[in-house]
Amino acid sequence: MLSSRFLRQAFTQPSRRFNSTLTGLDASKVKLTKSQTLKPLVANKDLVFGHTFTDHMITADWNEQEGWLAPEIRPYENLSLAPSAVVFHYASECFEGMKAYKDKNGNIRLFRPDMNMARMNRSTARIALPQFEGKELLKLIGDYAKLDQRWIPEARGYSLYLRPTMIGTQEALGVNAPSNAKLFVIGCPVGPYYKTGFAAIKLMATTEYVRAWPRGTGDAKIGGNYAPGLLPQRMAAKAGYQQNLWLFGDDHQLTEVGTMNLFVLWKNESNELELVTPPLDGAILPGVTRDSILSLARGWNEFKVSERKVTMPELREAVKNNRVVEMFGAGTACIVSPIKTIEYMGEDLQIPLDPNDSTSQAGPYTKRFNNEIMDIQYGDKESDWSVVI
Ligand SMILES: *Cc1c(COP(=O)(O)O)cnc(C)c1O
Repeated sequence: MLSSRFLRQAFTQPSRRFNSTLTGLDASKVKLTKSQTLKPLVANKDLVFGHTFTDHMITADWNEQEGWLAPEIRPYENLSLAPSAVVFHYASECFEGMKAYKDKNGNIRLFRPDMNMARMNRSTARIALPQFEGKELLKLIGDYAKLDQRWIPEARGYSLYLRPTMIGTQEALGVNAPSNAKLFVIGCPVGPYYKTGFAAIKLMATTEYVRAWPRGTGDAKIGGNYAPGLLPQRMAAKAGYQQNLWLFGDDHQLTEVGTMNLFVLWKNESNELELVTPPLDGAILPGVTRDSILSLARGWNEFKVSERKVTMPELREAVKNNRVVEMFGAGTACIVSPIKTIEYMGEDLQIPLDPNDSTSQAGPYTKRFNNEIMDIQYGDKESDWSVVI
């Protein structure tokens, strides 16, 4: 058996990817082609997540002889790829999810975008796609967001969702690291995840399927991780639960909620108030929102903050002893998503929302994380997490 260290080196240090004779991604070489016909804007109230796209996109091609060719900002349009392109056969694809926000002064802002660039380069490395200069892609994203800025709605809660993507485009069925790749970025205007205030979700704990495992690929944002989640997701939906809760191991460790990281605020076994999220052990996607919540909570210093394993039997016991305070999922699309019910082994566990308001759909800490992060994203609160472009 190959040692995991050997595999890691093979994936992250293929020598040809660092060949200094290859050209790096260079935003200053961008070729701009403006769209001749601009699409009509969609009213804020009619925006559905991921259904409306702006007038332009960013593209850049790479090949192993030359490196990155000059990037382009050009009209949003279909890609033309050979049916033999590796992306269609072996899922040579990875992506990012980030947002551009318009602040009160009309400035366009990104939230911790360097983290998305670093994570995307870890994802491309994991599936043997090329590295790229994150700073250069951010410059291109800045140019692109300014060009398409009429698509960034101004109201709080609205933003332009950005989807950087890389695919293997080599036209060959051999299972090899692709010799050709394409990077592209598309953008879609999105509204608040919860149009009428928070709506707490019901989860079904999936015991039959596993999303990710240590030393697998769960910590990389690669397309191949997501299609296998659709069947369990549909099973949960059919049973009346909005998302599934992914477990791992015979002890049923909590890992993630749908495509969000997971947080539990509870009184732990020692009766201390503690915010817990599963540790980055290779099976957890290292979310930017996750990191931001941990950092805010550590700054508040009002309760213990832990990245550690929690199992369903432990959570079930805490629910029964009224030790659970709040639970929520966390990700760029929604920031936080309060959880009210978890179905586990045939039993619905009820998670408290707000102890002081029976009509509220989110607990006070869940709301506070949401508001603090939003304040930073929209530039209402000064922070170096928010970058004006
Ligand atoms: C993208 C994603 C997240 C959230 O990451 P953010 O950077 O906070 O948006 C969490 N889990 C999975 C599986 C994801 O794909």
